[in-house]
Amino acid sequence: MAERATTLLRELPSVDRLLKHPKSAALLARYNRNYITQKFRETLDHLRESIQKGNSVAAEELTDDSILAHAESLVLADGRPGLIRVVNATGTILHTNLGRALLPQAAIEALSRVGTNPVNLEYDLAEGRRGKREEGVEQALVELTGAEAATVVNNNAAAVLLGLNTLADAKEVIVSRGELIEIGGSFRIPEVMAKSGAKLKEVGSTNRTHPEDYEKAIGKKTALLLKVHTSNYKIVGFSAEVGLEELVAIGKRHEIPVMEDLGSGAFTDLSQYGLPKEPIVAERIKLGADIVTFSGDKVLGGPQAGLIVGRKAWLSRMNKNPLKRALRCGKLTLAALEATLRLYQQSANITEDIPTLRAFTRPLDEIEALGRRVMPELQKVLGGGFQLAVEDSTSQIGSGALPTEEIPTKVIAVSNPNMGAEKIARKFRTADPPILGRVKDNRFLLDLRTIFDPVDLVPNFTQPADKT
Ligand SMILES: *Cc1c(COP(=O)(O)O)cnc(C)c1O
Repeated sequence: MAERATTLLRELPSVDRLLKHPKSAALLARYNRNYITQKFRETLDHLRESIQKGNSVAAEELTDDSILAHAESLVLADGRPGLIRVVNATGTILHTNLGRALLPQAAIEALSRVGTNPVNLEYDLAEGRRGKREEGVEQALVELTGAEAATVVNNNAAAVLLGLNTLADAKEVIVSRGELIEIGGSFRIPEVMAKSGAKLKEVGSTNRTHPEDYEKAIGKKTALLLKVHTSNYKIVGFSAEVGLEELVAIGKRHEIPVMEDLGSGAFTDLSQYGLPKEPIVAERIKLGADIVTFSGDKVLGGPQAGLIVGRKAWLSRMNKNPLKRALRCGKLTLAALEATLRLYQQSANITEDIPTLRAFTRPLDEIEALGRRVMPELQKVLGGGFQLAVEDSTSQIGSGALPTEEIPTKVIAVSNPNMGAEKIARKFRTADPPILGRVKDNRFLLDLRTIFDPVDLVPNFTQPADKT
């Protein structure tokens, strides 16, 4: 055994010989020498290890051709992007783990324009000198929300951090215990508050907070009253919260500003489409909030961003805060966001032009028709062992918006007497591209609300290898 291993090890080519091999020329024309050398080394190391462990290694695996082919497959694997396309049939329209909102076409075009050309990001073309960076986005936000001023940072967590640090560093912020929320992905109000330098002063109880609770807590060190939209859960039953209007009145009496973290802020009233109502930013400003923060990639349907609107005096202080520089958006985000905001201002049909709103408002008969169309093809690919049925179910908005509200939808239920739902889910995940559904009551469901092309639901199992 040991003797055979020694012989095999001696047969392995040197990296140098591989680099000089005629077949390496094509690789070396495309990729740099250091990189290709490293891939040859990895391949040789792997073979050496197998031989030393006494694993069976066939003689043809040791040929230069075979080693070159293996190294090339490593190169190709490296070239595959880490972020790959998946099909979202989970029924959660804004799925944080799947990248939330799909961008409008106009935003995609803006990304491409700004990514491939120099742009007037911070250049005033009329004056021929340095200009303001976020002007276009700020102006649109002011018009859309009725606020005095606006700005934008990387995400809503950053917006909350910047707001708290600017208004309440080393001072107290009063928040209801019922609003000390945690959002998935480690955003917790108390922890963001601690990092901002502000001191949290909790009032009320988990299920009930009254105006007197705020009144009693206000003191010399109070700098801000914070209201947080409890996006991802709802307190039902014996509960009481102090509404924004009332909180604003309390703030006015004590000359303390009120900031609201809306989470998903909407620009349009979703109830006009038969959906439950998500708070509208302009209405919160009208009710007197001094600052409102919300996400760009939730119900709004734009790129990841944290939008801040409110009083000019506060916004100008935020813009001067060094944290703002650290949290500012890049040109790609600004371009995609501006294009999305422009649609809210100008589009004759936003439920067509903004994919998130399109998914929210899609008629059930259209969803069902797509399901019926895809069934025969899906059955053909899956084979006879699987049973398919179009059924009624409910989708969710996701990303914490309207947590208890569900939107009627149609699903394809996939079952197989010889395969559990989790195993079917795994099988669909190995397709190229992976198809993600949901498992409910030990059944695998493909939600059709977010599927627009029937081809997307027909799994391609050939590659990568189906490991079920
Ligand atoms: C989603 C959410 C956040 C975090 O927003 P990101 O844009 O993900 O950073 C903060 N607060 C509330 C209430 C939210 O719903």
